[in-house]
Amino acid sequence: MNIEPYRQTLTKYWGFTSFKPLQEQIILSVAEGKDTLGLMPTGGGKSITFQVPAMAHDGICLVVTPLIALMKEQVGRLNSLEIKSAAVFSGMTREEIDITLENCIYGDYKFLYVSPERIATPAFQAKAKRLNLSLVAIDEAHCISQWGYDFRPSYLKIASLRDIIDEKVPFLALTASATPQVIEDIMTRLAFRGRNVLKTSFKRKNILYLVRNIEDKPKYLLSTLNKVNGSGIIYVRSRKKSKEIAEMLVGNGLSADFYHAGLTPELRDKKQAAWSSGETRVIVSTNAFGMGIDKADVRFVIHWDIPDCIESYFQETGRAGRDDKPSYAVLLFSGSDKSRLTDTIRHRFPPVEKIKDIYEALCNFLQVPIGSGKDSVYDFNMSDFVSKFRLPVTETYNSLLFLQKEGYLEFTEEINNPSRVHFIAGRDDLYKFQVANEAFDSFIKLLLRSYTGMFTEFVPINEESLSKKSALSRDTIYQYLVRLSNQNIIRYIPGKKTPLVIFTEERLDRKSLVISPDNYRLVKEKYVLRLNKMIEYAEMNNRCRSVILLDYFGEESDRCGVCDVCRERNELDLSKYEFDLILEEIKALLSSENPDAEELVKKIDYPEDKVIKVIRWLLDHNKINRGDDYKLTWKN
Ligand code: ADP
Ligand code: MG
Repeated sequence: MNIEPYRQTLTKYWGFTSFKPLQEQIILSVAEGKDTLGLMPTGGGKSITFQVPAMAHDGICLVVTPLIALMKEQVGRLNSLEIKSAAVFSGMTREEIDITLENCIYGDYKFLYVSPERIATPAFQAKAKRLNLSLVAIDEAHCISQWGYDFRPSYLKIASLRDIIDEKVPFLALTASATPQVIEDIMTRLAFRGRNVLKTSFKRKNILYLVRNIEDKPKYLLSTLNKVNGSGIIYVRSRKKSKEIAEMLVGNGLSADFYHAGLTPELRDKKQAAWSSGETRVIVSTNAFGMGIDKADVRFVIHWDIPDCIESYFQETGRAGRDDKPSYAVLLFSGSDKSRLTDTIRHRFPPVEKIKDIYEALCNFLQVPIGSGKDSVYDFNMSDFVSKFRLPVTETYNSLLFLQKEGYLEFTEEINNPSRVHFIAGRDDLYKFQVANEAFDSFIKLLLRSYTGMFTEFVPINEESLSKKSALSRDTIYQYLVRLSNQNIIRYIPGKKTPLVIFTEERLDRKSLVISPDNYRLVKEKYVLRLNKMIEYAEMNNRCRSVILLDYFGEESDRCGVCDVCRERNELDLSKYEFDLILEEIKALLSSENPDAEELVKKIDYPEDKVIKVIRWLLDHNKINRGDDYKLTWKN
C-alpha cells in the first residue's frame, strides 16, 4: 500500500503537508479493508484518519458519533471545505431524515454523520442498505463498553450494521480513552473480523503533573495565578462554584470568566471565543467546557475539584500544552474532598426501588403507555419533571443515568436545533404564488437571498438575523413562516432547545423492569474501582504521576522526572536508576527480615549515604514503618 495518494488528499483538502503520528498507519490499515481500532489522545488528529480515506475512495463514509453539537460542527467544517456532508440525529423529523438519507443515496455526498440511537431505527436501516458505503467510522468508541466511563447503550447497535451493508466495508473505531479491558470490549462489541489495535503513546512530556494537598484553595489559586503566565482552565464540580470562583478572581484583579451547560449557547460561544482569543485569561468551568476546544497555548489546567475517574482527569488535563510547551496540570485535593467523592457513590447508585419509581414517573410524565415507546424521542424538561413529581434532583439524574446504563433509555441535555425551512413548492409554483400574493413577495425574496439550498433540503435559518436584516419584528417573521407553511409553500420546523429522552426499549411495567442485582452490583463495583484509582492518584506520593496515568491506560513508561513526586526524588540527588535499584533491594530484604536502619545499610552494597537517603525517603512517604524497637518493616 502506498501512502502517497492519501498524503496528496490531505494536502489538497486540508492543506497539511504531512501526517501526524499514527495517522498514516491507521489510514493504510483501513485502506487494506481491515477493521481497525485507533487510539490517539484528544487533539491527536483522529478525524483525519477517516476523512482522508473517505476522500480518496469512492462512496460515502458513515460516521457514528454521540455528541450532536460536535457532529454539527464537523459537518459545517467539511461543507466549508466544499465536501458534501450531512447529519442525521434525534430531534430531526422523520421527513427531514428521509430527505437527508435520499440525498446521501443519490447525491455525491462524502460523509454522513449519524447519532448512534438512529442506527437501529427502521427508517435508517431501510435506507442504509442503499448507501454506497466506503467506510464506517465510530468516534468515541469507548462509549460501546459498559466498563468504560461513558457507556451509551445505543452504541451496541452499531454492529447490527454488518447485517445490512457490504461485508467488505471496514469499521474504524476511534477513541482517546480506553483501558486495556475497554479496548478488547470495543473490538468484541463491534464484531471486529480480527484483532487490530493501533495506538500512539499517551505520554504528554510537556505536562507537569502536580497534586497539592491544600485546604485554602482560593489562596493557592491567587498566588499561583499571579506567579504563572498564560491562560488556562480551572475545573470545578458545580455551576454555582464556577461563577463564584470566577468572581473571586475578577475581584482580585485577574482576568477570568465562568462557563457551564446552563448558559445559553450564544453566551457559551461568546465566552469560549473570548477565552480562545486570549481576551479572557482564565475560564472557570464545569466539565461542560472542552468539546471542540482547539486552543494550543493552554498553560495550565487546575482541578479545584477532583473528577470521579482517571479517564476524565486525563482528558481534561490533556487540553494543556497542545503547543508542546511546558504546561501545568494541578489537582487540588484535601481531606474533605475524599469524603465528598466517596459520597458520590451513594448518590450515583440510588436503591433499585427508587430507580423503578423514577422510571415509572418518567413514563407517566411523558405519557408513554406500557408496551410502546421503543425508539421514540421525547422532549424532556428535567426541572419540570422533578418539580411535578417532587423528586430530588441528583437522585433523579442518577437514576436516569442508571437506566441509561441498563439500556432502557438515553437522555441528552445538549440538543439545540435551529429552525429549518425547506421549499416544497417548485420554482414555477412559487413564482405564481408570489405574483398572486404580493404581501409575501418581499419576505420570500428575503429568505431566498439569505440562504441557499432550500429547494433540495431543510436548511437551518435564524429568525433573529432575518428580523435584523429586514427590520421586521421577530414575531412578524414567525407569522410569515407559519403562513407560508400553511399554504404548502414551505415546510417550517421551528427551532427548539429542549433536552430529549430517547426510549431504546418499549415501556415495561414495574415487574418486568429488570434491574438485575448482579449487574447493579457490577456496574457499581466498576464505578467504585475507577473512583478509587482516582483517589489513589491524588493520595499516592511515591509513584510518578505520569507513570500512574499511563499505567491506567496500559502503557509502561519511565518516570517523568518533573511531577511533584519525581521532584522530591530528584532532591535525593540519585539517578532514577540508582534509586530504583536500592529501593528494590530494600524491599526484597524487608520481605524476609526486619533489621533496624543501621543493619539495613550494612546489608546493602551501595554507598552508605545513598542508601540512607532512600530509607529516609521511604519513611517520609510511609512506604516503610519504624517500630518502637527501631526495626523496619515494609508497609503495603
Ligand atoms: P481528535 O479527534 O483526535 O481530538 P481532531 O481530529 O479534532 O483531533 O484534530 C485536532 C487538530 O489537529 C485539528 O485542528 C486538526 O486540523 C489538526 N490536524 C489533524 N491532522 C493534522 C495533520 N496531519 N497536520 C496538521 N494538523 C493536523
Ligand atoms: Mg475527535
